[in-house]
Amino acid sequence: MVALVYASYLVDASLLALMWLAGGVGWQPALAVWAGGTAQCAVFYLAFRRGWNERAREPYLALPQAVVATAVLLGVALWWPEVALLMVLSMFLIFAFAALRLSTVPLLLMWLLVSAGVVAVVIQAPSRLSLPHGTPAQALLTALWMAIAMGRCAVLGQYGAAVRRRLGERTRQLADATDRLQDLATRDELTGALNRRAVMQLLAEACSSSGEAGQGPAVILADLDHFKRVNDTHGHLVGDQVLRRFAIICAGSLRSTDRLGRYGGEEFLVVLPAVADAHTARAVAERVRESLGNTGWDDLVPGLRVSVSLGVATWVPGEPVEALLQRADEALYQAKAGGRDRVVLAAAATPPGDAWACGR
Ligand code: GH3
Ligand code: MG
Ligand code: MG
Repeated sequence: MVALVYASYLVDASLLALMWLAGGVGWQPALAVWAGGTAQCAVFYLAFRRGWNERAREPYLALPQAVVATAVLLGVALWWPEVALLMVLSMFLIFAFAALRLSTVPLLLMWLLVSAGVVAVVIQAPSRLSLPHGTPAQALLTALWMAIAMGRCAVLGQYGAAVRRRLGERTRQLADATDRLQDLATRDELTGALNRRAVMQLLAEACSSSGEAGQGPAVILADLDHFKRVNDTHGHLVGDQVLRRFAIICAGSLRSTDRLGRYGGEEFLVVLPAVADAHTARAVAERVRESLGNTGWDDLVPGLRVSVSLGVATWVPGEPVEALLQRADEALYQAKAGGRDRVVLAAAATPPGDAWACGR
């Protein structure tokens, strides 16, 4: 940015030098613009290199840069009224550039400052306030100055548009990243199922939202049978593959509203929101069990067989989530005790009483 500002000063100084050569304008304005620009750019270059700007509230130092640039141009306009209008023209550009960067209050301050300067210029030299146009060469150079000023306006507009485009892009990227983070925060890395926290939250929400309707969610606790053996016999990596594939098979057997979460090691929790009756829940669990039973594992380990035991419990209004899960766990235990590879429906919930009141 400092290089751009300096280039801009050099263009102005060169044009003023050409005007001096064309006559009608002294050599001083060109020298003053060049010297002012060089001093400004040197100071700000140093500030950026040393990192002084990092301590500032606005790291581009837009306000101090604009103030210094305006002061240089105002000084030239005050001392040499024959080029005052050219300087004022350039001040518009500085002001427009500052407007892109500054917030409202600094911009208002800057506007007051620039206006005061312009008033000073107009009052100080009302009769001689002009731009060089006495000879064709002078007029040509003045026209060139104006054309360049308009070119700068266009560049400035393009710059603003590019910033806006970049901002839009960043906003989109940020939204994507937020989605990804959200996904990472709620997913189990190995299986892609919801993680324990997410599925528990879902269950709690399902219980609290269906309280009044009298139709609560049901849960299925699924635990792979003799999974330790799979690990011990075929290794942890095969165990991981089995877990992954089980999650896919299980999810494939669920309805679109049912949600699958990894409850712990080789245990999964399915939440069936607003399920009407225990038999529907049981049928879903049966479907999961059968799908797993029909799955071939030969591509992973020839002859491997994997089964699952499932405990099903349906929620009754007022029942704490822990009590519901406890019943599902007891049903799962019965399934294991009964020989595994089966579904057991939990005993009916104890009617609301002191135990639930304590649980809350
Ligand atoms: P049961 O039929 O009674 O459920 O027997 P089990 O062997 O499945 O149950 P147990 O609780 O004895 O063993 C569970 C095993 O699951 C032990 C543990 O190493 C394994 N496990 C837990 N998490 C993972 C995992 O992320 N990857 C793999 N490969 N194994 C896991
Ligand atoms: Mg197990
Ligand atoms: Mg287990």
